[in-house]
Amino acid sequence: MLDQLSAKLQDVFKQLRGYGKLSEQNVADACRQIRMTLLEADVHFSVAKELVESVRARALGAEVLESITPGQQMIKIFHDELVKCLGEPEPLLSGSPLKILLCGLQGSGKTTTAGKLAVWLSKQGRNPFLVAADLQRPAAITQLEALGKQAGVPVFARHGTGDPVRVVRDGLDAAQTQGRQPVIVDTAGRLDMDDALLEELAKIREEVKPQEILFVADAALGQKSVDIVMRFKERVPLTGLILTRLDGDARGGAAISMRHVTGLPIKFIGVGEKLDQLEALDAGRLAGRILGMGDIVGLVEKAQEVFDMQSAEHLEEKLRRQTLDMQDFLLQIQQMKKLGSMENLLGMIPGIPKVADSSKLDARLRQTEAIILSMTPQERRKPDLLNARRRQRIARGSGTTVTAVNELLLQFQGMKKMMKNKGKMKQMLARMGM
Ligand code: GDP
Repeated sequence: MLDQLSAKLQDVFKQLRGYGKLSEQNVADACRQIRMTLLEADVHFSVAKELVESVRARALGAEVLESITPGQQMIKIFHDELVKCLGEPEPLLSGSPLKILLCGLQGSGKTTTAGKLAVWLSKQGRNPFLVAADLQRPAAITQLEALGKQAGVPVFARHGTGDPVRVVRDGLDAAQTQGRQPVIVDTAGRLDMDDALLEELAKIREEVKPQEILFVADAALGQKSVDIVMRFKERVPLTGLILTRLDGDARGGAAISMRHVTGLPIKFIGVGEKLDQLEALDAGRLAGRILGMGDIVGLVEKAQEVFDMQSAEHLEEKLRRQTLDMQDFLLQIQQMKKLGSMENLLGMIPGIPKVADSSKLDARLRQTEAIILSMTPQERRKPDLLNARRRQRIARGSGTTVTAVNELLLQFQGMKKMMKNKGKMKQMLARMGM
């Protein structure tokens, strides 16, 4: 799902990860690349332009956190803007009584979506009722009957009649008699939008008087799908959209453009053929999928929460005065551990899970902590005291080897040296595995 787009965006952000601070130039470069990537993904040009402009404005004014790299900060900004673009959540089909009209072109997944919606509503504790009013495609009626059976939802259908308005009228009566609602009406689709289709829909609408008219659009069609919705919207007062086949859409152009261009809320997304593969739109989650990452926003928020700025300042002060000792090192490791396992942490960062063996990093952090814990307070303050005998004792105490202890001490010396030159704690965190 959305693989191509995610992979390209990850490439753009990977380049930013190396920078210690964002400059106007690298923000501008990244924005240009994001814009190109979006356009290649078939995102509407006005959406790509606006999205990139707001990212640029925020990135240049962004406060860069000490505990994360600026590249990640930029991803968070892009993520936030993407969420705005996809649409804020709103109450979903909560009205009662409720009648829902589903419309869309043939093959968009309308009938399947009717069944999925019935399942979704049942899970919300409602008692949905399906009406099969797609008489254009003969198989649609039996298809909906089968879906209803699978979903445990009654379906009103009449075989051998050509009058959908009649079917709808009788269907509504049946729903009322059985005391069931919301009523979901599956209407006919054509291969293209034509007057006959619109006329039929107008008549059905008159009969049903629906609170919701949802257009089912195929995400895999990209911009074409957006154009179809725009044309439909001129003639039918749509209240929202359901985007199907997002699972088969590698590019994401329709998903990103749809809300912004049409002004209509995306209410649900279809992510597979099965009846339970319909999700209420969660813009944050979808943005995460588009960016091809676990949850970078979660990571940034968590880092803000956990990272103790006061102790960071204290550490920076120590670094400046070059009095950093093993105890400080230990505190930093423990603070990083509060963020969760490296595996989870790295899983939140785009691109990394595929390249790094994060469980090894976790093990390494644990080992480092064990070694420092096996030192006496005096040794932690003055690592120079650590002669061969003491190192042997520490190796035994921490269940490691003298080589591991030596490595850590070398790493610590190297870090001190680096800090002496650069005086920046960000690099130290990077050295420690961030
Ligand atoms: P209709 O002509 O609009 O009623 O379309 P159908 O409901 O018959 O769907 C056409 C095809 O699309 C069927 O094979 C469905 O299983 C499939 N389909 C519908 N929604 C999704 C979806 O979200 N993901 C995938 N992969 N397939 C879907």
